[in-house]
Amino acid sequence: MALYEGILQRDRYYLAKAITLVESSRSDHKIQAQQLLSLLLDAQNKIMHKDFPSVRLYKKLDADIGDTNKKITYRIGLSGPPGVGKSTFIEAFGMHVLSKGHRVAVLAVDPSSPRTGGSIMGDKTRMPQLSHQEDAYVRPSPTRGTLAAGYDVILVETVGVGQSEIMVSEMVDMFVLIVPPAGGDEIQGLKKGIVEIADLVIVNKADGQLANAAKEAAAEYKSALKYLKPTSSVWMPKVIPVSAKTKMGINDVWDAVKEYFLKSSECERKRGTQRKLWMWRQVTSELLERFKSESSIRTLVNELDQKLFRGEITSGAAADLVVDRFINKK
Ligand code: GDP
Repeated sequence: MALYEGILQRDRYYLAKAITLVESSRSDHKIQAQQLLSLLLDAQNKIMHKDFPSVRLYKKLDADIGDTNKKITYRIGLSGPPGVGKSTFIEAFGMHVLSKGHRVAVLAVDPSSPRTGGSIMGDKTRMPQLSHQEDAYVRPSPTRGTLAAGYDVILVETVGVGQSEIMVSEMVDMFVLIVPPAGGDEIQGLKKGIVEIADLVIVNKADGQLANAAKEAAAEYKSALKYLKPTSSVWMPKVIPVSAKTKMGINDVWDAVKEYFLKSSECERKRGTQRKLWMWRQVTSELLERFKSESSIRTLVNELDQKLFRGEITSGAAADLVVDRFINKK
């Protein structure tokens, strides 16, 4: 498969083609996409079993956290409200990580629309420096990390709306939340569920007049996190004030990321759970699609639509009829 070879060679042309394939809703594309993902998964497993044998190995590396161990794939989700500085941060962080000899892929997940807060997610113009680097790949695309084979630091960006953070946290090993330098009520206002799944909270814009506010906000987040259930038994979420603009704290974030991957013996277990979850997601959507396209179901649903609209039948009763029709036919 040319696509498979191309991706392993880190050829951007093939990578872009593969992403288009995976996102396609055509059924023949879906089959090809699954074949491709399976091949990549096998390739990834071979690499992992060779270089990712156990966490005990990392313990030995404790003295020199990680940079020598380039074979780890860092799958990191980044989320935050529009304007918080996500693209500025990714640009600064990405350049820093590249300078340490890694290859960086930036992918974006935006379930609502490609346009958020006036900027297009994953748009190359938002990360002008990074997107021009030979070893970096920036693309607006909700793909699973598998496709970014050949890149060892995969940043999956999402804007802080709806369910996208949860979805992203299910695709990555580490979930990073970027927040503005504001405390008090605004922290209260932040959706608790999002802070709960964060492995790392970055308080951005910790510079100039906002420096103190950022430090105070960081302290508030730290105490707020103490009362939340930790995401892991070995990792206590960290809070780091950062200035994406002046690059203050960027190295601290990279150190925290390396420490997380080093400590997180759950990483592999998490990936296993995620694979199961994604299988069920796919089964659910595939079944639903087939179910809805059954002609007998379509006819019945059309009839029921009217009745439902007019209030002549309850949704529960209508659902029963639809499911019964399907089961009795079988
Ligand atoms: P995004 O919508 O989350 O991607 O946010 P952007 O990266 O586009 O940044 C939004 C605005 O905040 C821009 O005007 C940036 O220049 C500014 N900004 C981003 N990071 C920082 C920072 O660390 N300090 C300050 N003072 N401004 C920042």
